[in-house]
Amino acid sequence: MPDIKTEIPFGRPFIVGKELYYIAKAVENGSLAGDHRFTKQCHAELERRFGSAKALLTHSCTAALEMAAILSGVGPGDEVIMPSFTFVSTANAFVLRGATPVFVDIRRDTLNLDEKLVASAITDRTRAIVPVHYAGVPCEMDELATIAEDNKLWLIEDAAQALQSTWKGRMLGSIGHLGCISFHETKNVISGEGGALLINDERLIERAEIIREKGTNRSQFFRGMVDKYTWVDIGSSYLPSELIAAFLAAQLEHVETITEQRRAAVDFYQTSLTPLAQTGKIGLPAVRLSEAGNGHMFYLFARDLDERMRLLEHLASLEVHAVFHYVPLHSSPAGRRFARTGSPMLVTDEIADCLVRLPLYHGITLEEQQRVVDAVLDFFGG
Ligand SMILES: *Cc1c(COP(=O)(O)O)cnc(C)c1O
Repeated sequence: MPDIKTEIPFGRPFIVGKELYYIAKAVENGSLAGDHRFTKQCHAELERRFGSAKALLTHSCTAALEMAAILSGVGPGDEVIMPSFTFVSTANAFVLRGATPVFVDIRRDTLNLDEKLVASAITDRTRAIVPVHYAGVPCEMDELATIAEDNKLWLIEDAAQALQSTWKGRMLGSIGHLGCISFHETKNVISGEGGALLINDERLIERAEIIREKGTNRSQFFRGMVDKYTWVDIGSSYLPSELIAAFLAAQLEHVETITEQRRAAVDFYQTSLTPLAQTGKIGLPAVRLSEAGNGHMFYLFARDLDERMRLLEHLASLEVHAVFHYVPLHSSPAGRRFARTGSPMLVTDEIADCLVRLPLYHGITLEEQQRVVDAVLDFFGG
């Protein structure tokens, strides 16, 4: 049994390089509102990495999803297909437009939207498909893109967790018409709160810039394309301050190292827990998370809800802070009110009760990870 030591948190925000220096620079530059030097630097960097026609920083992935919902033009009566096993914002962004999320079950191996169930959930009111790349592991993007194209639907990637993950060599977030990224402090690359909208269909750029700037053509005005700026469409204030962009710019300089370290940490968990999984006491992801994705998350499965609760309590008693994940949106109060299911929810309901996420953050040490593993083994009497 491991010694009781300081708490191993579930996650921890971090600094890797010039974050504070760049923030000081931003102050020195004399402009703290959005779209100045550091914001432009982040845009250029994201466009280079993703190959997107345009990248726009937002306050959050939630804001990027809300912009995507406006850009897709959905309204009351329209339907949007998505998983139920996701964060609230995936659905809420479309509900704000008056549209109805239609939840489809997930695959057991990746916990991603089951593409085989998507076609039968399509009705004549369906306007978009929103795949979520859970744990940074890609959805089956070829089949989803084909379904979207055949049915003239928007394909909007919720790539909040998927920075640096790829599907057949293409960056996740760069495949759909639009991609939404998060830089929340729980994600791989962080700016506290933060996000980006990736615009992969250039016809959407002009309107995206207007929506992000309170419905005005301010961006065009600054580029000298119009001689005064005015209210031209609906929108909101979706652009972050230069302070956020400065922090993010410094993090993006180290995205490869951050990703490699997270992949290594996830790999350690998966290797270390394989013997326990072979006894049948826990379930492990069916895919190698470190290879399939960006090392965003490590999860395992307890046998049922009760065992999961006891496991989490046991880990907490050893100062190891592990957590469960989403309450499936179809069983949430707002989900029942604003959305419907488009398939049975067998896998979603089952895994949501059993899933446990282990501590993972930039800079987690092997010693800390070993303590986590030992605490899990201890619970199962290994
Ligand atoms: C984190 C997350 C979001 C929301 O990101 P914010 O930047 O916190 O708004 C949306 N969708 C998924 C799948 C997420 O993991």
